[in-house]
Amino acid sequence: MNSYHTSDCNQNGQSGSQSIKRLVILGSTGSIGRQTLEIVREQEGLSVVALAAGSNTALMEEQIREFHPAYAVMWEEKAAKKLREKVSDQKVKILSGMDGLLEISSLEAYDVLVTAIVGMIGIRPTIAAIKAGKTIALANKETLVTAGHIIMPLAEQMNVRILPVDSEHSAIFQSMNGEPGERIKRLWLTASGGPFRGRKREELANVRLEDALKHPNWSMGRKITIDSATMVNKGLEIMEAKWLFRVDYDRIKVVVHPQSIVHSMVEYVDGALIAQLGTPDMKLPIRYALFYPDRRPAEQNKLELSMLSSLTFEEPQWDSFTGLSLALKAGKEGGSMPTVYNAANEKAVSLFLDGKLTFLQIPEIIESCMEQHKKIEEPDVDQILAVEQETYEYIRQHY
Ligand code: NAD
Ligand code: MG
Repeated sequence: MNSYHTSDCNQNGQSGSQSIKRLVILGSTGSIGRQTLEIVREQEGLSVVALAAGSNTALMEEQIREFHPAYAVMWEEKAAKKLREKVSDQKVKILSGMDGLLEISSLEAYDVLVTAIVGMIGIRPTIAAIKAGKTIALANKETLVTAGHIIMPLAEQMNVRILPVDSEHSAIFQSMNGEPGERIKRLWLTASGGPFRGRKREELANVRLEDALKHPNWSMGRKITIDSATMVNKGLEIMEAKWLFRVDYDRIKVVVHPQSIVHSMVEYVDGALIAQLGTPDMKLPIRYALFYPDRRPAEQNKLELSMLSSLTFEEPQWDSFTGLSLALKAGKEGGSMPTVYNAANEKAVSLFLDGKLTFLQIPEIIESCMEQHKKIEEPDVDQILAVEQETYEYIRQHY
């Protein structure tokens, strides 16, 4: 069962106090993973049992030396081998691949899985952690977008909490504060509008990679930064919200809020609109998920209302950012369509980052992949991952 209390001894063999939360962090070398470890460094009451990353052995070595996890996983066995040599003086077990991710997610002696990995690779470890009764601090939105129909019922069945790390979903979660669903009229997801806000579609034709990577407010990984520029990120977040909060698509609204101060809102049936405000700093939602339902004092990251000249809100530009409407279409069709949307976007963004596509080709590719796909109604995990590969293959053949 899910528990916030530890046994007397954690994976490091240290004796733990009753209030220590033991973490497994997938994606520890990435933007969310590194900020999670900053919080471990700053706050009392957290310990690290296992870390996992793709290929950055140099940073993983530093993290092992500082946080002393009992396990570390590198995606590639080659990187794992290199890491074993680097940290041979440390008491840490180095694993690799999906087997490694599943092993650390299923460990007995930990409390919270922080899933800060990027992509659908997060699905299986998340399922393993839920089956092991662990609380999930979920940054990896792709997991819910593509497998929400598997994850949410399983979490309910296992009585496991899925705590959002994504700032908008954390804001909604904080604004809901346990109110029953029938009191909620609509969810309002705020979007910054990204670096190209206000541009007409034809003005997006020749935008450059370096401009797309300049997010006005948030500092994030490269892939999600491009997703913000296309507004596909907001599209994925609509689908993420649908699963997390069990709300129909016609009750999830997007509003562009360029200052990124209001992180999202809940509108109640009586007309009350409750929002969470803060500076754009992911450490607030990460901290909230790690310590929920507690709130920890944190000096940085204060919002000075007197320094704000205005907070503005506008309708999204549906014609310029077609990735957003395609997300609604994929979400409403459901089944395997969100997987196609997500996989097509991942591949297209990776080609765009390599300079092989134009900006507008990203939504074009998503649309053409969705058009050619024959939807599977309730795909299981194998089918989801097969659809992901088929979508990649279609793009390889056509672009
Ligand atoms: P990132 O690219 O900075 O980091 C991704 C991490 O995943 C890295 O540690 C990488 O090594 C690891 N990884 C990638 N493939 C792996 C594999 N096969 N096996 C093991 N590890 C692997 O990404 P990020 O910006 O931190 O985003 C992570 C997730 O959080 C994404 O789903 C993103 O949508 C979501 N998210 C991020 C932010 C943000 O501010 N960065 C905000 C909200 C949600
Ligand atoms: Mg977000």
